[in-house]
Amino acid sequence: MTDEFSVAHPCADCGISTSSTGNIFKVTDDLWQRVAVANRKVPAAYLCLNCVEIILERKLMPGDFSEDMVNFSYRFPRNALLIERMGARFEELRARYVESENALPIMWYWLSFADEEKGFLGVAIVRARSIDEAITRAWELGINPGGEVQSSKFEQAPEFEAYENQLLDKTQLEDAGLI
Ligand SMILES: [Zn+2]
Repeated sequence: MTDEFSVAHPCADCGISTSSTGNIFKVTDDLWQRVAVANRKVPAAYLCLNCVEIILERKLMPGDFSEDMVNFSYRFPRNALLIERMGARFEELRARYVESENALPIMWYWLSFADEEKGFLGVAIVRARSIDEAITRAWELGINPGGEVQSSKFEQAPEFEAYENQLLDKTQLEDAGLI
């Protein structure tokens, strides 16, 4: 099974990349209807925080954010303003999620990092219960180089054991016969 997350996700109003500026969030359905669907010929696919607040003529508040995973996953970087607007909402959603996650089996995660400027940044191999825990674990271990992540997970992966909790570059991956 593969999770993928990339591309620019441009704001429909100002055109900035919402994903590379830490502008990934979901508001409640009602609010999205108001800012992104009503009064538009074409509904917006993405809007940045700034443009949502311009349309609303007010700041976003914790209660405006939905329970969607993008609002509590470590997979999605948030800029300082978004973190401020979410307030305690992030911790609240995250705590609930972590509780439900504790019941999941531990799997091997292959995390491949890349960014637009530098390209491929390396692969981290960790064991975790979810993609989110895997990314958090990589941060804690200091083996998460940032950028965008693509992941694959495996129930059994004996070939990973010697490389657990390491960040591997292309040469190391080739030498290890992993790519
Ligand atoms: Zn915008």
